[in-house]
Amino acid sequence: MGELRAAIALLVMGLMLLCGGCAPQGGGAVLPKGIPVVRVRILQACSEARIVATSPLWAKSQADLTPQPVSFPAAPGSILKLVNGGWIAGGVPLGSGELTLTPGRAGTVSVEGRCCRGRYRLVPVGQGLFDVVNDVDVDSYLKGVLPVELYSTWEEEAYKALAIAGRTYAIFESKVTGVRRAYDLNSDERSQMYKGIASETSKSIRAVEATAGVVVAYGPPGQERIFRAYYSSCCGGKTQSSHDAFGDDYLPPLGEFDRGATCSISNKFNWGPVVISKAELSKRFAAWAKRKSEQEGQPRPELRMQGVARIEQAYVNKLGRPVLFYVTDNANLRFMMRAEDVRLAIASEANGGPTVYSGYFNTINEAERIRFIDGHGYGHGVGMCQWCAQRQALLGWRHEDIVIANFPGTKLIRAY
Ligand SMILES: [Zn+2]
Repeated sequence: MGELRAAIALLVMGLMLLCGGCAPQGGGAVLPKGIPVVRVRILQACSEARIVATSPLWAKSQADLTPQPVSFPAAPGSILKLVNGGWIAGGVPLGSGELTLTPGRAGTVSVEGRCCRGRYRLVPVGQGLFDVVNDVDVDSYLKGVLPVELYSTWEEEAYKALAIAGRTYAIFESKVTGVRRAYDLNSDERSQMYKGIASETSKSIRAVEATAGVVVAYGPPGQERIFRAYYSSCCGGKTQSSHDAFGDDYLPPLGEFDRGATCSISNKFNWGPVVISKAELSKRFAAWAKRKSEQEGQPRPELRMQGVARIEQAYVNKLGRPVLFYVTDNANLRFMMRAEDVRLAIASEANGGPTVYSGYFNTINEAERIRFIDGHGYGHGVGMCQWCAQRQALLGWRHEDIVIANFPGTKLIRAY
């Protein structure tokens, strides 16, 4: 990691005067008032993190009453570690417990190369490990989501439709899922892809600002509620419900819908055959079961799977899209798995090798390998379809109509 010099120096009173006593108090310019803040876990279980700052920032540990002004070197930065429960960077202690780092100005601080708006919260998770969480207002967050989720050439109305879906999803997660933990969202495909300031584009900024405050809601008049407004890349013509895909309670706007050939402009609308050896599938299912068990904190039944001998459809939804598969192992034990889990297991550790793009396929089981045929779509296929939205935008639809068509029975409301 290179030698660290006096990496951090507490600044003297001069800085306080220079800044006019501008220590952030958790609001102000960093986290604007009125716009909901979402907590995005950008790094998980780190043993160290490189902090680079081009201007002073403010650090506050759990024990500090007020934030302390701190200077990190711009290059090569400083390595921050958690040693015996205490934070240390470049030999300088920074207290214990949760540590908050607030940039003096947006864009001046990066953690492990991730430069985000808002502030960074470093949360101990045990044994010298910590998560890095970015507390950021939902609109700044979305500006760094849309360009990663959508192609740069796509229509402005498709961007705006996704801004509304993404905003609803993020706020819902912060109100419901995040209540039980120190973060609301992951920064990868487990939630929405998010890469911070570096990924922002003029198109993403315009789409977020043009729709600021607007979310999609469902319920009787006067009692509309936001919901987990899922979206995915390409539905392949038929969606699946969030109930079938994830085990959520059934909600009509997240049900199964026939979208015809709307997203047939995607090259994943039809795919296959994809051929993968049973030996390779066995490795991938084992790796998936291990990781999924760790994530869920309890052993998955698939941990007992002795290789993969056959995969076949077990149940299709009312539109004919498979939602459950049987996976039979070499001991002739049969495991029933969600199509969504089968997709992720097959894609697990594919390392650029052949894989399936959705759980919407059929199979031909051969002696040594499985052929995945009649594939349709890309992603989980629940809720809004990005390629359907792009097609509708190309046909001249307004973003409001795109959102409601993708979440039938809903209406748009203002959340802030
Ligand atoms: Zn679609």
